[in-house]
Amino acid sequence: MTYSTKCLTEQKFADKLSDSGLRYTTQRYQIYSILLSRQDHPTANEVYQQTKENHEDISMATVYNTLETLIKCGLVREVNLEKTVTRYCPNMKDHWHFYCENCGKVFDMDVDRPALSGSVTAPSGFTINQVEVAVRGACQQCPDGENKVCRKFDDFSDN
Ligand SMILES: [Zn+2]
Ligand SMILES: [Zn+2]
Repeated sequence: MTYSTKCLTEQKFADKLSDSGLRYTTQRYQIYSILLSRQDHPTANEVYQQTKENHEDISMATVYNTLETLIKCGLVREVNLEKTVTRYCPNMKDHWHFYCENCGKVFDMDVDRPALSGSVTAPSGFTINQVEVAVRGACQQCPDGENKVCRKFDDFSDN
C-alpha cells in the first residue's frame, strides 16, 4: 500500500504547520517523509538512524522534538502497544493496526467505516471518539513460526 493518494503534499504539510503557528522546515518535512515512505511505523530510533544517513549532525533529541511537533499538528499519531516502544503513524484516516509478533513492526489495515464503529457499543453514557483495534499475527517478511511470541512462551514452560 502506498500513501501517495492519501498523504499531504509538501504545501499542505506547510499549511498544517502554520495552522498551529509553526513554520515549515526541511528537517520537519524530511522526518515526516521518512514516516510516509515506510509502511512499518518506525520507532523514533529508526527514524533517527534513517535521518542520520543524510544529516550526520542531527540529534536524537531533535528527532523526538520533531515527532512531538508533528503529533501536535495532527500530522502524525503515536502507536502504542503495551510493553513495546512507541511507533509513529503518519496516516490520520481511521484505520486499524496490524502488529507483527515476529519483528514488532506495525502496519496499517484499511477498514470500512461501518466496521470501525458499527460493531462497537460504548457503555451507557460513554462517547466513542476513536476505535483502536490491535490485530496481531505475522507480516509478509516473517514466516509464521520461529520467533513467534506464543512459541517463546511454549519454550519457557518446557524448561
Ligand atoms: Zn497507522
Ligand atoms: Zn514481521
